[in-house]
Amino acid sequence: MDVASVAAVTRAIDAVTVDRVKERHPRAPLHLESSTMPSAPSTASATESLTSAESIRLVLDTVEARNPNEPEFLQAVHEVLESISPVLEAHPEFVDGGILERLVEPERQILFRVPWVDDAGRLQVNRGFRVQFSSVLGPYKGGLRFHPSVNLSIIKFLGFEQIFKNALTGQGIGGAKGGSDFDPHGRSNAEIMRFCQSFMNELYRHLGEHTDVPAGDIGVGAREIGYLFGQYRKVTNRHESGMFTGKGVQWGGAEVRTEATGYGAVFFVEEMLGVHGETLHGKRVGISGSGNVAIYAIDKARQLGATPVTASDSSGYVVDDAGIDVDLLRQIKEVERARISEYAARRPGARYVEGARPWEVPVDVAIPSATQNELDQGDARALIANGVRAVAEGANMPSTPEAIELLQSAGVLFGPGKAANAGGVATSALEMSQNAARQRWSFDDSEAKLRAIMADVHDAAFQAAERYGRPGDYVVGANSAGFERVAHAMLAQGVI
Ligand code: NDP
Repeated sequence: MDVASVAAVTRAIDAVTVDRVKERHPRAPLHLESSTMPSAPSTASATESLTSAESIRLVLDTVEARNPNEPEFLQAVHEVLESISPVLEAHPEFVDGGILERLVEPERQILFRVPWVDDAGRLQVNRGFRVQFSSVLGPYKGGLRFHPSVNLSIIKFLGFEQIFKNALTGQGIGGAKGGSDFDPHGRSNAEIMRFCQSFMNELYRHLGEHTDVPAGDIGVGAREIGYLFGQYRKVTNRHESGMFTGKGVQWGGAEVRTEATGYGAVFFVEEMLGVHGETLHGKRVGISGSGNVAIYAIDKARQLGATPVTASDSSGYVVDDAGIDVDLLRQIKEVERARISEYAARRPGARYVEGARPWEVPVDVAIPSATQNELDQGDARALIANGVRAVAEGANMPSTPEAIELLQSAGVLFGPGKAANAGGVATSALEMSQNAARQRWSFDDSEAKLRAIMADVHDAAFQAAERYGRPGDYVVGANSAGFERVAHAMLAQGVI
């Protein structure tokens, strides 16, 4: 969705015009709770305070004016702010404390040059990013993405979402995201290593176990994390395990971190279905992507008695009615780093569809696990027409706002990424705990903890949705529960 249509949707929802607000409040006041700053009590009366709708409209207006070329970031900000009006009504101190105005501006944005030399001896230059959005709940935490599409808008949308997701997990972690427009596809191991080393030569000064703790994301898996961690160790002369998560289990990594996002998304589906007395057993599941999240979502869906029937990459998708063979998929994508079409070539009964997305395949449950905006209105219509029961976002913001609206109005259970894919970062926090305590927990123990965390995340979102008058709306629930926790902490810690 482009910026213009994002803005149009908002204006339809909120009839309060910016001009009217500005007329009444030429300079929107920033009131502080007297308890957090006794020497500076509010001088404005209650009637001068902005309503929640006015406050949201003003903030959106400012964000649009300040970030005109960042459609993904604007989409993410709209999605959160438009859903938390009931929270602001219940907590006028959040409006008075300028929580929204502060939250939409990252605490720090780091852009840097990443020069490296390819195998042919040519100099290459990429751009590196780290957007440290909020450290109010703990050290900045969020993955690194290496993909040619990466730009500031994408990193800011991911960092913004990360604040609320991380809060929802109940762990002490702030929100951040980073990465580069580097494309790892087709690069040799030596090129990947040189790129990672150059990237870390700059980023290391902004990281640390108490400062900022990255992890993987698209294009950053076990291999890249190894090279990045190795270079950090060299340039700092510190083996600081807690400065990166997703490490190999032999050198400080946690059991289940690799599997956590995909497993967690499937656990979240089980929780949503469980509210209605259903389970995944016997259901057909459609999954997009064939990377870290998709592979382990497929794996866990199979273990729970479902039949995952699709997988995809940026070229197309495969459908396998007998159920995706995870071992074959891993061999093709993780070992050979080949295209998904190879799966159909080697698996009898499987079919490859070039240049299309898997949502046209009839399924009971869909778990989009590739990238942002990969499930649009048309895809939602196809899923609904085929009787889909639940959609859970394994990826970050894979569904467009129009798709979400269609799915929710059709009564489809919809688990937003902030809740459904929170298992990855939650397990990263478990990795940090183990590093700090110099302990290693078993796979079974770690998986049990992940399952309990996903049940808690589900309950927090479910209960917040009820509390704010939108029962069953996990978008409102997840955003509200995450936002509340962050906002209380921001008020307590003063104007930072
Ligand atoms: P991977 O790099 O392991 O896999 C990404 C997959 O998505 C690949 O199959 C890739 O195909 C596909 N893909 C990427 N871009 C596009 C595109 N533009 N169109 C279609 N397919 C595309 O990444 P992850 O599995 O780690 O991440 C997937 C999603 O999950 C992302 O949105 C990420 O932010 C989110 N996420 C990941 C977490 C984690 O722990 N890894 C945690 C929480 C969220 P191809 O090979 O052709 O590029």
